[in-house]
Amino acid sequence: MQLPSSVTQALAMLKAGGHEAYVVGGCVRDRLRGAEPADWDIATSALPEQTLEIFSACRCVETGLRHGTVTVWIGEMPLEITTYRVDSGGHDHRHPDEVHFTPSLREDLARRDFTVNAIAYSPESGIVDPFGGQRDLASGLLRCVGEPNRRFEEDALRLLRALRFSSVLGFSIEDRTAAALHRRKELLRSLSTERVREELLRLICGRYAAFVLRGYPDVIGTVLPEILPMVGFDQCNPHHLYDVYEHTLHALEAIAPQPVLRMTMLLHDSGKPASFTMDEEGIGHFYGHQAISERLARQIMERLKFDHVSAQRILALIRWHDADLVPTDACLRRWLNRLTEDGLRQLLQVKRADNLAQHPDYRDRQQEIDRLEESLENLLARKPCFTLRELAVNGKDLIAAGISPGPEMGRLLRLLLDAVIEGRCSNDKDALMALIPSLVPKSTTSNF
Ligand code: ATP
Ligand code: MG
Repeated sequence: MQLPSSVTQALAMLKAGGHEAYVVGGCVRDRLRGAEPADWDIATSALPEQTLEIFSACRCVETGLRHGTVTVWIGEMPLEITTYRVDSGGHDHRHPDEVHFTPSLREDLARRDFTVNAIAYSPESGIVDPFGGQRDLASGLLRCVGEPNRRFEEDALRLLRALRFSSVLGFSIEDRTAAALHRRKELLRSLSTERVREELLRLICGRYAAFVLRGYPDVIGTVLPEILPMVGFDQCNPHHLYDVYEHTLHALEAIAPQPVLRMTMLLHDSGKPASFTMDEEGIGHFYGHQAISERLARQIMERLKFDHVSAQRILALIRWHDADLVPTDACLRRWLNRLTEDGLRQLLQVKRADNLAQHPDYRDRQQEIDRLEESLENLLARKPCFTLRELAVNGKDLIAAGISPGPEMGRLLRLLLDAVIEGRCSNDKDALMALIPSLVPKSTTSNF
């Protein structure tokens, strides 16, 4: 196995100090499946103080001394070096009650979550794989090390990690591990919102997210109960060939794997079950579902403490996902003003993905979105004015023209901007100034 030179060097330094040292966990898993590891972790028999001593010439940070982890920089590369350890307890399903160091690599591997994450490697000893991780890696199988129910009870984060790895790596979940996931799903309630949010976002951004969301709605529904009414909900509508949840999963798969976009797709139709009505012809309708979806999404964003900027964007995209857009400059300027350039581009992606998940008879909407995107590029190339920042007139100009500062001036600027956005006036100072008398009540200024 090819290791970065700084990793080889760290292993050699620990070994020269009389200790065992292996690369372990995600980096070994990723190397064996031909992917580039995100970071390199080292497990060693050296105690943390011994590690600090050995790397005294390097920059070291005692990342989690109680857990035996020291971060060491060799050149530019940070390495997490952790003493072999066993965890015991975990009575709150979140934190081990006690951490014991052990001289045994096997014991250290036994405390790890999944067999594919419990493989170690060193240049001298080669691969150490006591739990069949390589076999599971070859068959694309995620299996708990040890008894799954017990492992999930020790640490509930493992439930979400299982789903996240399955989504990102495309691995199936071994039967007993899968059964324990369903049986122990309530444990997820003990996790902190931050950890749930982070794992959930990684899960829905995985390449195989739809596969996992389809197989484990009950587990994900423990932390996102808002999605459950969608499962199996028949739309009774010719636009759709899937139930609401299946449509949602197809739409989610059809959009780029970015948290804001994926979250939008997951929740864009969550308000449909609550808004369902059927007409005399037996056709289903969902009037006003966008507002209900937005409300459910807001509830989730608040509960999971999403950052304000992402939450606002997700809510706006959900609110407007069915909005009618036409490829005219005025319409596009209006939406640029409402959503910003980045937001409008995202809305078009949302509409594209939503349509790709509808009945194929309605795919001509794709060309409508092509035209909207073309018109948007064309408009942006002309440096359009769609916020006060680009308006050819500002507050100073208005003061110079005799208008007193205050809320009335703000209102006037907004009216001028509206005139430019709607194409009633060009963004030209003289033209805008000439428009003012028609916008101002006679008594407000002396000059007009
Ligand atoms: P990635 O870095 O892509 O998320 P990873 O497998 O490296 O994947 P980390 O969170 O970096 O995940 O953890 C490194 C290793 O530590 C894992 O491979 C696993 O062996 C072990 N590990 C991490 N979290 C847990 C846990 N909650 N329970 C048991 N072992 C864990
Ligand atoms: Mg890692």
